[in-house]
Amino acid sequence: MIALGRASGVRAGGWGHAGRAVRGPPPPLPVLFVVLVAAPGTRAAGYETCPTVQPDMLNVHLLAHTHDDVGWIKTVDQYYYGAQNELHHGAVKNILDSVISALWAEPSRRFVYVEMAFFSRWWHQQTNATQQAVQELVRQGRLEFANGGWVMNDEAATHYGAIVDQMTLGLHFLQDTFGDDGRPRVAWHIDPFGHSREQASLFAQMGFDGVFLGRVDYQDRELRQKKQEMELVWRASASLQPPTADLFTGLLPNVYDPPKHLCWDLVCDHDSSMVGDPFSPEDDADVLVDHFLDVAADQWQSYRTNHIVMTMGGDFHYENADKWFTNLDKLIRLVNAEKQASGSRVHVLYSTPACYLWELNKANLTWSLKEDDFFPYASGPQQFWTGYFSSRPALKRYERVSYNFLQVCKQLEALAGLAANMGPYGSGDSAPLEEAMAVLQHHDAITGTSRQLVAEDYARQLAAGWGRCEVLLSNALARLSGSQEAFSICPELNISVCPLSQTSARFQVAIYNPLARKVDRMVRLPVSAGAFLVKDPSGHAVPSDVLLLPQPEGQKPSPELLFSASVPALGFSIYSVARVSLRRFKTHTPQPISQKPGSAVLNIKNEHIRATFNLETGFLMQIEDLEQKLVLPVNQSFFWYKASRVGQKISPPSGAYIFKPHQQKPLPVSDSAQIHLLKTPLVQEVHQNFSAWCSQVVRLYHGQRHLELEWTVGPIPVGDKWGKEVISRFDTPLDTKGYFYTDSNGREILKRRRNYRPTWNLNQTEPVAGNYYPVNTRIYITDGKKQLTVLTDRSQGGSSLQDGSLELMVHRRLLLDDNRGVGEPLLEEGSGSWVRGRHLVLLDAVGTAAAGHRLLAEKEVLAPQVVLAPGGGAPYQPGTARRMQFSGLCRELPPSVHLLTLARWGPETLLLRLEHQFASGEDSGRNLSSPVTLNLQSLFSTFTITHLQETTLAANQPWASGSRLKWTPDTGFTPTPTVPPLDPASITLQPMEIRTFVASVQWEEFAWSHGGDLVQA
Ligand SMILES: [Zn+2]
Repeated sequence: MIALGRASGVRAGGWGHAGRAVRGPPPPLPVLFVVLVAAPGTRAAGYETCPTVQPDMLNVHLLAHTHDDVGWIKTVDQYYYGAQNELHHGAVKNILDSVISALWAEPSRRFVYVEMAFFSRWWHQQTNATQQAVQELVRQGRLEFANGGWVMNDEAATHYGAIVDQMTLGLHFLQDTFGDDGRPRVAWHIDPFGHSREQASLFAQMGFDGVFLGRVDYQDRELRQKKQEMELVWRASASLQPPTADLFTGLLPNVYDPPKHLCWDLVCDHDSSMVGDPFSPEDDADVLVDHFLDVAADQWQSYRTNHIVMTMGGDFHYENADKWFTNLDKLIRLVNAEKQASGSRVHVLYSTPACYLWELNKANLTWSLKEDDFFPYASGPQQFWTGYFSSRPALKRYERVSYNFLQVCKQLEALAGLAANMGPYGSGDSAPLEEAMAVLQHHDAITGTSRQLVAEDYARQLAAGWGRCEVLLSNALARLSGSQEAFSICPELNISVCPLSQTSARFQVAIYNPLARKVDRMVRLPVSAGAFLVKDPSGHAVPSDVLLLPQPEGQKPSPELLFSASVPALGFSIYSVARVSLRRFKTHTPQPISQKPGSAVLNIKNEHIRATFNLETGFLMQIEDLEQKLVLPVNQSFFWYKASRVGQKISPPSGAYIFKPHQQKPLPVSDSAQIHLLKTPLVQEVHQNFSAWCSQVVRLYHGQRHLELEWTVGPIPVGDKWGKEVISRFDTPLDTKGYFYTDSNGREILKRRRNYRPTWNLNQTEPVAGNYYPVNTRIYITDGKKQLTVLTDRSQGGSSLQDGSLELMVHRRLLLDDNRGVGEPLLEEGSGSWVRGRHLVLLDAVGTAAAGHRLLAEKEVLAPQVVLAPGGGAPYQPGTARRMQFSGLCRELPPSVHLLTLARWGPETLLLRLEHQFASGEDSGRNLSSPVTLNLQSLFSTFTITHLQETTLAANQPWASGSRLKWTPDTGFTPTPTVPPLDPASITLQPMEIRTFVASVQWEEFAWSHGGDLVQA
């Protein structure tokens, strides 16, 4: 054990640059005495290769890094190959080529790389010799991977399932390529625009030892610098037992940029020279070294140990890596050799995020504890980055639907085995969609902060991935149903377009359910005119309606067939539809309802809910839950914020990132809505028309426990030269006392309070934008008795700006750029200008509300996939019997358990994630918040699990060996609980726990080799 002070010696020696004053107030007197926990020479796993530091000096860790956006101003491919450099200079292939040779040239140099979307592509283009050389650099710790996800994902608009998938994809590549040497110890989220608590929880569960962040609110940062709380322990779950979701969190001193005047890339704005030759008239090394020591002294005041970092890199830096590295070489030589010789106590070194973290861990301090999140992010007064929560709503929805389809694709690949990949329809696989979805999680993709052309390229990548999954889905359905059909999916069902059902008199509807329990779902398909008979998988007729709905002007009204389908867990049901000739049949058409002044009302209802509309305005005015006898006046309507006007001089205006309404009070889209009413045995709907660009259908299906609001907005008119940000607002008399609740990445719920931040006294500069939070799946308000919850079908920004009120931003169209670099206003002229979406509204008693919104949100995120076929296909193999209904599970999972992942992992292994989807204490009605125990033996119907291994969340290390560095928060140290041995017959899930397994399996048809008993890991 070595005693180490934040030594007076360091101060006494001064900063070694006589003749220049240290900027700012003198550093605080040394007060801390720190004890090292590890003896010299012992290193935690993964930290063995860290450089030597000077225990009695200030050690400045230089982190040479490049931040390579996976698409932003240019497309992913343009950035990789360096095309269109006049738009934005960036050439990742050249960066990696250049960095690798610069690392070889000088053994002390180190570099950190992050984005696997780029690195894996580069890796596959290298020769064996280069690959071996890179493996050696990784083994020696000279090339370190941080984060290691496919991309550095956004944290505000992402769903946790997609985050887990994209991290798993990148970390799996690293594990396959470099083994444990390449496993990142540190997460590195230096650019996302605000940070979610769920992201920290997921990082902790992936086994990361810490995370470094670049962007936090300017007021928060200032205070933390003053209080030396730039480094902290984040307790990222209110349900998981500490320290499971505790994550050490470091806020970087300068976002992720180098200190001013110390930037040596070819794209640096203020290119500094540093020649290191005292006889050269160009030499300014002395000045820069003194400046460096000033910066270090200044920075040290905000941090607690005798170690600080400087991020030496930036966006697409190191294309000419030698330029950076030779200057850093000189800086290190001058500071360490020359300045130390004249008394300086500053030691500067090439380091990495992990090696810096390792020194902080050795300091064995106690750290402040954070339990909330880092939203919203303001980079200065009136600069709230809360617009991107809603930017590009069409792309946000396409991403969410693609998450749904990817899970269907991966499940079928797991259930049908190799027959899914090669079959009657050709070769299909889930990998292209998996990669495209991973790219979409990037912090300029799902956020809507890329250029238009790049957003279109993201959509192109998704569409290409869908194509390969559609082949897989056809192969798998043919294999599992025993019939080769011409399967087709209709991606435009949301706008009632589906050529097969619209032109055929007879067809089949296969509905695949990706949930681990049965679902009942209304199926709605555009059809040709006439009457139809719908039969369920056992051949019994089921009730159906034909609706005749008005279309946009100039188009014929289009009939839609509606019927209720029931689909087993992780399986499908095939329904048959045939046009029949009936002498009398009824087609239902919405009827106009005339507006009446006064107190006249209109109702729609089913057995659970009644919704009442005001006939004077045409707006929703009340919701009743008939079973629970709850009544709540709810006035719902659309409004818009004036964003900014062409020619206006505000800095910055509302843009792709920033929300800055010109005035705080939104304007109504209309004072009243024209309404039509549709009532059939299966559905009741009120069609509201607010304006030429804003309409809504309020819908109640038979048996449904929520009210569905399907809104259509756009193209937003900007002829008046005003950019507009459109919201849907629900006003109620609930006494909410300033509080509201939003989800974190679709998982745990955070309590929000208007004009308030839990860790500092907020000086609110934007009463609207400064109260906006990300809503990934739900937002709710409550008075302690009743709860009004709104579920979204994509990520949106939301808030409660008055007690009892709740709003969601559904669309935005802006005429000015907000000067954050994208350099283009968010105009969305073409696709994306017209958006349709759904809000699902639940009224509940507080104690039972979670059961409602958790289970419904799960059904929305993983909705059944509808696949059509003309019918009459050949048997899969001669003599194969036709199967009209199938379940991949031998028994359903209990309602609190969600099957988060079922996917192919290796040739004979599957990845399986089981999740408890309720938070601790959340459900008091059905006891759904209790721990639950499952038996995985003989659970699946198409394969047998022969061996089971539990892993960390991203499946890149066995659970048993996943020991993380230990940190002590100021509330005290919590030891990691011991894990009982794995028993596949008894897997217990605690509230909000996710358990990840790699399962060796034998598929049914291959199960001839040996028995199918589970073998314990
Ligand atoms: Zn970035």
